Amino acid sequence: MFELPEYITLARQINETVTGKTIQRGALGNSPHKFVWYNRTHEEFAALTAGKTVGQAHVRGRWLFIPLEPGYVLLLGECGGRLLYHPPGARLPGKYHLWLTFTDGSALTAMTQMWGAMELYEAGREQERQYVKGMRPTPVEPAFTFDYFASLIAELRTGEKRSVKALLTQEQLIPGLGNAIAQDIMFRAGLHPRHPLGDLSEAQARALYDAIRATLDAAIVGGGRDDEFDLHDQPGRYKRLMASRAVGQPCPTCGAAIEKIQYLGGACYFCPRCQI
Ligand SMILES: [Zn+2]
Repeated sequence: MFELPEYITLARQINETVTGKTIQRGALGNSPHKFVWYNRTHEEFAALTAGKTVGQAHVRGRWLFIPLEPGYVLLLGECGGRLLYHPPGARLPGKYHLWLTFTDGSALTAMTQMWGAMELYEAGREQERQYVKGMRPTPVEPAFTFDYFASLIAELRTGEKRSVKALLTQEQLIPGLGNAIAQDIMFRAGLHPRHPLGDLSEAQARALYDAIRATLDAAIVGGGRDDEFDLHDQPGRYKRLMASRAVGQPCPTCGAAIEKIQYLGGACYFCPRCQI
């Protein structure tokens, strides 16, 4: 699944490659998939996208906003899979869930793996969508200060008991993070996935905040994780420290063997000595 670094990379590449192009034809998928969420019929999508110009794309959390000007915004959210640019004359994939061809002969296709939204809104209405409306500050925004982060932890302490992994991966409490990037964040912070939020010290909360920023920075600079693909079908260059290939291998810090557990709906990889 795409997480914040992959979405930021895709938005940057769209702005470098696709922005300014005029849509000749837009189509929803030729490959039915019950977990792709559309809000338009095929006919509506084709009629509303024809002749529109692609504006400056941007990202919030796990949502990619692509203006189709004038008047519309294409919203791709919570997806995995492939979002690909095809230069003029390139062969298009046989299957896709969304397809835009441009007047210069180039094209954009989206194919999701598990689920995802591919919705077209009148500009402004996309902000009303569930999960976009009321989204908490994402870690790449100025509002995501340490004071904000500390207040988020304090707020969560009063409710049900949560762990560090829950903070990083559940309910988009920190929008844009997911199970993949969370593993390296917890390693950098020296915190075990099950570590209760309720007993984080100030120093541990600070270490966690710094690890979120540092890990995201590294993954964004690397153009996303190396198990996801960018707009040009190239894998990202960010190699996770804590991934399936690390299990049984020595921890880069202390040499202890990396372990794996299943916890909160996904695998966790961690150092049993460094992460408490
Ligand atoms: Zn270690």
